[in-house]
Amino acid sequence: MLEIISRFFDKGQSQRDTGEPVIVTSEYHSLSPKMISRDARKVVEVLQDAGYQAYVVGGAVRDLLLGLKAKDFDVATDAKPAEVKSLFRRSRIIGRRFQIVHVQFSREIIEVTTFRSNENKSNDSRKNHRQQTDSGMLTRDNVFGSLTDDASRRDLTINAMYYDPGDNSIHDFADGLGDIEKRTIRIMGDPATRFREDPVRMLRVVRFAAKLGFTIEPRTGKPMHKLAADLEHVSPPRLFDETLKLFMSGQGLASFWLLHEYGLFERMVPQVGGMIKDTNGLSSKLIQQAFTNTDLRIRAEKRVTPAFIYAALLWPAVQKLAAHYRDRGNSAAYALSKASGEVIAKQISITAIPRRFTLPMREIWDLQLLLPRRGGHRAKRLAEHPRFRAAYDFVLLREQAGEELSGLGDWWTAYQDASEDMQEQMSRRVGDPGSNRKRRNRRKPKPSSTPE
Ligand code: ATP
Ligand code: MG
Repeated sequence: MLEIISRFFDKGQSQRDTGEPVIVTSEYHSLSPKMISRDARKVVEVLQDAGYQAYVVGGAVRDLLLGLKAKDFDVATDAKPAEVKSLFRRSRIIGRRFQIVHVQFSREIIEVTTFRSNENKSNDSRKNHRQQTDSGMLTRDNVFGSLTDDASRRDLTINAMYYDPGDNSIHDFADGLGDIEKRTIRIMGDPATRFREDPVRMLRVVRFAAKLGFTIEPRTGKPMHKLAADLEHVSPPRLFDETLKLFMSGQGLASFWLLHEYGLFERMVPQVGGMIKDTNGLSSKLIQQAFTNTDLRIRAEKRVTPAFIYAALLWPAVQKLAAHYRDRGNSAAYALSKASGEVIAKQISITAIPRRFTLPMREIWDLQLLLPRRGGHRAKRLAEHPRFRAAYDFVLLREQAGEELSGLGDWWTAYQDASEDMQEQMSRRVGDPGSNRKRRNRRKPKPSSTPE
């Protein structure tokens, strides 16, 4: 396949200037209509039969060309959302900032997007359909356009290829095929302008580079460090969704390093940003190890939860703040609880972590304080805690990252494998660090200020 694609390189170079697509016919690429889901083919067919243009676009074309499985199929068309809706009984228009139509089938939903334009036609009636903030960010984007317009407002060249299953051709607007061959992530248009319009595109650059193992073209990467601060304009729910895509893609560690390189990670998790500058320090090691473990779990098709990942990402900040409150005479439990609450409150103003994840995060942290206190009847009770497993994994993670916990992880591993009699003996034998809780806990907390 790749040799064939390379025959288009020359054309690819010249097409960048004209904005016109190279139409790559079937003998020169590896796609075939049967790679496209039946439902997506049906949507394209119905639209084309009604006289509209329609293509499969975006991630599916990119992934199939790379020999990967397509996650889902998006269709782009010149039919307006209402026109699309009228052609499919089980369909609905969704979104406001960006209207699209969902066509429902029994096995999947096909997302149909009307061609958009990237042009700012500010003195015509379209003005209200496209809104921008002072920083250049798009807040509404419903100006419809031609196929060529649509291609130029897509994020990456490898995402701007349009496949027509009807005649088995690819309309390649910016040498996306060449970039697939060269394994390059290249943004469409002027990088700084495109990142200002939508700072999430910087995260998408990183995500696809990490996921596909591609290199970020230097021109694309150049303005990212400077524009990383623009992430603060992104709404917390959207930023949370994007962080999950980055962290739970199976390439979390690779994503982390790239985010770090471009100064993006520090913007996404600012409370630990300053603490991970030393990549060999305990804080950075803990985060690296959390991503390594998560990636392994995903590859083994084991369950992963954002609660565990965020618990690890924020743990260095929680520990630092808790130490500050302990230094001011508060009990360990009170200091931890106060620190946890404050760290989470700051983080959710950036990435809106839902409560169903912040609650288990706090439980995992609380249990870090309780798991060493395993004498007497405590061990049995702790092992029955609904969050025990996650908290135990978290202890192992801390030890793997190099924290010295006096063999705590091994003790709990042995405990879980032991018979009931053995478990009782183990609990009896262990000195109980919990017994020195006594008065310290009851000491009245001093009013305290937050450290820098
Ligand atoms: P995947 O679904 O595998 O994560 P994808 O490329 O399909 O990857 P989607 O988020 O489903 O990603 O978006 C579909 C297409 O819409 C993309 O391929 C791209 O062409 C375009 N797109 C998505 N987000 C943006 C954005 N922020 N700016 C410009 N174009 C975008
Ligand atoms: Mg997609």
